[in-house]
Amino acid sequence: MLGTVRVARGLTQHDLAQETKISQGLLSKAESGVIALDEERLAVLAEALGAPQDLISMPVSEVGSSPYVFHRKRSTLPVSKVNQLRAELDLTHVQVAGILGRWAPQLRLERIPLPEDGFDSPEDIARQVRSALGVPEAPVMHLARALEEAGVVVVTRPLGSTRIDAIVSWPTGRSPLVLLGDHAPADRQRFSLAHELAHAVMHQVPTEEQESEADRFASEFLMPAAAIRPQLEGLTIPKLAKLKATWGVSMAALLRRGRDLGLVNDAQYRQLNVELSRAGYRTNEPVEVPRENPALLPRVIQERLGSGETIADIARSARMTEGEFIELYAGGTA
Ligand SMILES: [Zn+2]
Repeated sequence: MLGTVRVARGLTQHDLAQETKISQGLLSKAESGVIALDEERLAVLAEALGAPQDLISMPVSEVGSSPYVFHRKRSTLPVSKVNQLRAELDLTHVQVAGILGRWAPQLRLERIPLPEDGFDSPEDIARQVRSALGVPEAPVMHLARALEEAGVVVVTRPLGSTRIDAIVSWPTGRSPLVLLGDHAPADRQRFSLAHELAHAVMHQVPTEEQESEADRFASEFLMPAAAIRPQLEGLTIPKLAKLKATWGVSMAALLRRGRDLGLVNDAQYRQLNVELSRAGYRTNEPVEVPRENPALLPRVIQERLGSGETIADIARSARMTEGEFIELYAGGTA
């Protein structure tokens, strides 16, 4: 995992070689598993990377990292940042597996690939997943909790850029894991979470239409047509604001939903968008939606502390230094 940790820390091989006085050639061979480093060099690297030795010397094959990672991002996000976040996601899989241990929830989510014959649409699959998760056809109040109950792990943290909202992977034999950025307003976070759930369920390998398919799934998941249709008739700006508070999705998403369900015609859609712009709501919408609070990891950490383990014990099982563990997972408990 040496290379993964290095990339997650935002360092190039050159940076790390300079800092540790270990040659770049040696680092490169060690990262690709061609040679094993001696204890002394491992200790120097562990120190420089702020990671325990047992993490950097862990074989990637033990992690079961997924070749396919999906993210909700803007196209201007640099590739180096994408690679860094992918590495961070792989590390988070290791951390989460270590923290949860025998407390890991049972996975109740199935992969439902979109059939190529178009027989099932993203909306059909969203309805199947809602019913599998026991979510009624009504506003989903605690989306993160509903996902956690199905065995999906959600971790909220700064992603280091406001140009990416979330990233997900579902390696074989593990739980799907979503890293959710903490910068966006809650309505956008919720849409991102549903969008990433869509990727995890429908897209085992990348497809051409995956982004619009994930958005269609997310729209049906958060705003089921059957329940929301009557509420989207005669839309006005004040009505959109009221619906936002009820459904926990942005006014812009509600308006698009109205158009997609044929309740708002093109002229009305344009007119309402002009009104949203004029009010400044395109960049800053009114009505605050309650934030999603993933509870699985904090609960397990509390349970382990309650049964006599220390922060150091849990950090060790997560293959993290105590400082990093406290920063990322135990801010409020240590
Ligand atoms: Zn996506």
